[in-house]
Amino acid sequence: MIEPAQRIKEIPPYLFAGIEKKIAQALARGEDVISLSIGDPDLPAPESIIDALNGAARDAENHRYPSSAGLPSFRRAVSDYYAARFGVHDLDPETEVVALIGSKEGIANLSFCFIDPGDLALAPDPAYPVYRGGTALAGGSCYIMPLLAENGFLPDLDAIPREVAERARVMWLNYPNNPTGAVADPAFFEKAVAFARRYDILLAHDSAYAELTFDGCYAPSILQIPGAKDVCVEFGSCSKPFNMTGWRLGFMVGNAAAVRALSTYKSNVDSGVFQAVQLAGIAGLRDPQPIVERARQVYAARRDILVDGLNSLGWSLSKPKGTFYVWAPVPLGYDSGSFAEEVFEKTKVVLTPGAGFGRFGEGYFRAALTTEESRMAEAISRIRKAFGGFVF
Ligand SMILES: *Cc1c(COP(=O)(O)O)cnc(C)c1O
Repeated sequence: MIEPAQRIKEIPPYLFAGIEKKIAQALARGEDVISLSIGDPDLPAPESIIDALNGAARDAENHRYPSSAGLPSFRRAVSDYYAARFGVHDLDPETEVVALIGSKEGIANLSFCFIDPGDLALAPDPAYPVYRGGTALAGGSCYIMPLLAENGFLPDLDAIPREVAERARVMWLNYPNNPTGAVADPAFFEKAVAFARRYDILLAHDSAYAELTFDGCYAPSILQIPGAKDVCVEFGSCSKPFNMTGWRLGFMVGNAAAVRALSTYKSNVDSGVFQAVQLAGIAGLRDPQPIVERARQVYAARRDILVDGLNSLGWSLSKPKGTFYVWAPVPLGYDSGSFAEEVFEKTKVVLTPGAGFGRFGEGYFRAALTTEESRMAEAISRIRKAFGGFVF
């Protein structure tokens, strides 16, 4: 009998694999499903980016193997974007930027560069599942940093025991935060950088939603903190700001030793991102503001419909300042699984149960704003019809 390795037997299936199956089955039965589940933009990539891809795809130069670290012009565009957007002027495209096949790829693979079997990483909970998945695949384990509403969904670094901090090799953070929608301020990043410096921890900040903030709020980069590059890397992505999730383009910037380590790992595993996709990404990174300003308006309008709708059904949510998610408690009498299940059974509206993001996600659900306004309103009206209202 063919037996997979222990690491594959032990890793749970990816969160959305089960949800996607459930949606596919309902669609096959001809049901009118409204999925607020997966955070995948429904809007097309902008024309300027598609035009750049088209041109580049016709150039045979781009049909060859790319360098696995990324085109010099792409890495330069990332470095220039950091200067223009965050005032981070000193990123060396040669040594402090690496292109990724989507940031998920780099996030998962970074653990293979810094986690040996038995090593410890600090990971938030609830969280994007890849921090823990990558750590587990590399043979490490995670010390959980709970993200609690009363702390604004920021981890309490003072609550981490000294012996844990001394053992930890990597700390994962993600702001604007999936799934909670929280945005961190520079004061928190300062504390986190100081913590990482004190204990020689590689602080890996996932900044996939840096451009998706609302109400005049702009997310900082952790690299704005003086000295951050000594211990930090930051992950960026073209997926969410430019509606390019399927194109697979991201980057990691910051600490040169970490960039070198990930580049070495990747050169043994993959052969980089199709150059035409990198050239298209450059078109976005060189002029991002018109694109992301439109995205912000679209998501803010949807957020208002969803949050106002939920509040009319008994919730008392404030509006998230970032990401395209709404993170909300489940009503009295439910846990996150039973609530998502019953809503789906009665309305065919798909919500993601919070427990899928970790045990501190229990008691919540996540709704994604990647569905048009009319469907958002339809989801609310179906829930109203099926349930009336809720008690908390
Ligand atoms: C979507 C997402 C990513 C991955 O994006 P890529 O498409 O792989 O660049 C990374 N982190 C978080 C928190 C996400 O939600």
